[in-house]
Amino acid sequence: MDWFRLYAEFSTDPKVQMMSEAMQRRLVMLFCLRTAGIIPTTDDAEVAFALRVSEEDLAKTKELFVSKGFIDEIWDLMNWDKRQFSSDSSNERVKKYREKRKAMGLTSNGYTKHIETVMVRDGGCCVYCGSDKNLCIDHAYPVARGGNDDIENLVAACKSCNSGKAGRTPYEAGMSFLNKRTEAIWNHWIKCNGFSNALEQIQNRTDTEQKEQKLSARHDSRAKPVDESPVVISIPLNDSTEFPITERQVAEFEGLYPAVDVRQEFRGMRAWSLSNPTKRKTRSGALKFANAWLSKAQNEAPQPSQRGSPPRGPTSKTGEAVMKLQGVINGNQLDRNRDRQGLAGPVVLELGSPAGA
Ligand SMILES: [Zn+2]
Repeated sequence: MDWFRLYAEFSTDPKVQMMSEAMQRRLVMLFCLRTAGIIPTTDDAEVAFALRVSEEDLAKTKELFVSKGFIDEIWDLMNWDKRQFSSDSSNERVKKYREKRKAMGLTSNGYTKHIETVMVRDGGCCVYCGSDKNLCIDHAYPVARGGNDDIENLVAACKSCNSGKAGRTPYEAGMSFLNKRTEAIWNHWIKCNGFSNALEQIQNRTDTEQKEQKLSARHDSRAKPVDESPVVISIPLNDSTEFPITERQVAEFEGLYPAVDVRQEFRGMRAWSLSNPTKRKTRSGALKFANAWLSKAQNEAPQPSQRGSPPRGPTSKTGEAVMKLQGVINGNQLDRNRDRQGLAGPVVLELGSPAGA
């Protein structure tokens, strides 16, 4: 059975209401004829028969309807397609989409029915960074890879984490779950659904975390006396908190990495973390990150002069030149005077020594 839409304003439209009831009835009849495919037509006799009116009445009807802009000369209803099919065709698309998803074994109405439950479960915060702004639903295992709308695969995520992650698993994107409970639910779901590549990622992830925890535990036991020295700088973490670096830690690192301007490198780490929010480190991984960073800086730093220079001697070529120059000026003074202050005079400090930073 075919149907058509009658706009609700029909009952109040002045153009309609100014007409006799007979004409209003004929207009509705034309809607029926249009739906049945009888109009548009150039055969007026056929329309007269369909409306059960005389040819004379039909001519009056046509004149009236054309003058009001309801039809054109061949009985085609104006704006018919616009009124009838725009929303219907979108319904049709939605229907096809749902049928297609159903055929693929996916739930017919997608993830939308779970939105509220997921938001409540995840505490109204992004499971990756903890933000409560611009939230959306993320398929932790991407749809494009076969991830479905199971509630275990849906997580609350801010739009920035969601778009940073794109079509990858969180682990592939270098992101970790701040919400460990949701991560556990998702990991369990991955195991039950046999996404083997994701399983491997979870295993690698667990290994790395265990190593990080051991490292951090070792550091904690070493640093048992509470470090109350002032905080020099902090590194933003993946949970939006900050990892403080104290004066005492800086001193310790300066001892471990003598060729490195430790303070400057920590400023670099902070800047890097600020501009790479999705790659930020976990609290347990922060010191490991700092160590790896400083170790790299140490390896890349120019080697200090072998000739009796102090561990924190100048690392730049200019600094070395100044050292040599001063050595010439001072003659044997360097050998006689082993005092560092005597060696690293004000000129050297100013131009070369990172220790003065
Ligand atoms: Zn986020």
